[in-house]
Amino acid sequence: MPGVLYAPGMDGDSTQRARTLLQQKREGAWYAGGLRFACRFPECCDCCSGKRGPGYVWVSRDEMATIAAHLGIGFDLFQAAYTRPVDSRFSLVEKPNEDCIFLGDGGCSIYAVRPAQCRTYPFWEENLRNRAAWRLEAAHCPGIHDNAEPVPADEVERRLGEDIAWRRRHEP
Ligand code: SF4
Ligand code: SF4
Repeated sequence: MPGVLYAPGMDGDSTQRARTLLQQKREGAWYAGGLRFACRFPECCDCCSGKRGPGYVWVSRDEMATIAAHLGIGFDLFQAAYTRPVDSRFSLVEKPNEDCIFLGDGGCSIYAVRPAQCRTYPFWEENLRNRAAWRLEAAHCPGIHDNAEPVPADEVERRLGEDIAWRRRHEP
């Protein structure tokens, strides 16, 4: 997913709690020196495309409302046209080729309001468990490579904190 942008939709208190917990663990964290990552969009759009097969892009109700407003349509229309229910949650729908419905020639067509899952990748909880997990994710994301400038630990934790806070609020 191209670039980094924080968009509305995250609960401020839970995000701050997650960040504080992370910062308390900072000393000695395996990624304390930063993590080398630079998105290779537009050469790569693997995490938005069907290249790896079908998947889920989870969206909360707040995120659905934000994206609907961005598109200038009502919440109900957005929900019906662009999302699908999966158990108790909603995911964005995919095109027939399994690309995300919002992936276009220029990249993400809702970039400014893309969901937290997209904004925080690849700094997800499961990818930051340890160095081995990060290296495994590099096999899926060409942006994780040794020649990229390091993303500072503060930024890694900012996005990790948002990922954790989102999951705590919205995962069953
Ligand atoms: S897979 Fe990695 S390099 Fe490719 S678009 Fe996604 S974040 Fe960027
Ligand atoms: S919403 Fe945008 S960033 Fe997220 S998967 Fe779809 S195209 Fe990619």
